Amino acid sequence: MPQKSSPVFRFAPSPNGWLHLGHALSAILNSDAARRSRGRFLLRIEDIDATRAREEFVDDAYRDLAWLGLAWETPVRRQSQHLDDYASALDALKSRGLAYPCFCARSDIARAVADKERESGAPWPRDPEGAPLYPGTCRSKRDAEIASRLAAGEIPAWRLDMMRALAVLGGPPHWTESADGAQTSIDADPAAWGDVVVARKDIGTSYHLAVVVDDALQGVTHVVRGRDLYFATAIHRVLQILLGLPEPVYTHHRLVLDEAGGKLSKSVKSTALRELRAQGRAPAEIRAMIGL
Ligand code: GLU
Repeated sequence: MPQKSSPVFRFAPSPNGWLHLGHALSAILNSDAARRSRGRFLLRIEDIDATRAREEFVDDAYRDLAWLGLAWETPVRRQSQHLDDYASALDALKSRGLAYPCFCARSDIARAVADKERESGAPWPRDPEGAPLYPGTCRSKRDAEIASRLAAGEIPAWRLDMMRALAVLGGPPHWTESADGAQTSIDADPAAWGDVVVARKDIGTSYHLAVVVDDALQGVTHVVRGRDLYFATAIHRVLQILLGLPEPVYTHHRLVLDEAGGKLSKSVKSTALRELRAQGRAPAEIRAMIGL
């Protein structure tokens, strides 16, 4: 029986598609680590994106994970039921002037970036995922304009003022990366992301904000997730420090790639766990397929 002070691990899929072999790797690594350390294993459903999350994917994820032999604590936290928690965290950032409203459409940003590239003759900086950094259009909007647009019913996104945030932190943050039993302190580079969106206008929060709030509320001590989220950890550390949340230890594991060396997609049948389950494969075969 895990103790109160036991390590807490979590697997946190977004039910925007079928779980695939990459999810199996993440879920099994978390569950195995929890078992080895006599810790707890939580499942969290990250279903804030109402435009993409579907109930059938949630049901199927439960079936896939149970079929793999995993057991998690209940009740399962579903992010869509906790939007108030994320709104409070956003309010804390707003009240300290660390988040500002952004009224730009995607096309406004693309146009502003193209203008900047034309003026300077140089490519505009990209974030670690390759998207152009926000050019700052709404960063210095006057209070009167903001007030009148909000009063007129416009719903903005909210962006983190990264330079202000870093000034408040007093220096670049670090995180602890744990791999093969060794821990390394990693210098985070949040400035590489620019003024990230902390609350989308359609859902009032973002993956980044919800994930740090939930990891803290659920007492998660160990975040074990795919390498694709390695650089995003810089944003998570900034938010944790600003919001006074505890710092988990991170492990970013290898990704399971398709035959062409690309990322697995939630829409491809051949690597979907439900498909492998329907083919009558055994969970042990799945472990072998993902190199465990
Ligand atoms: N929900 C995220 C995903 O499915 C993972 C979040 C995390 O592990 O931090 O990609």
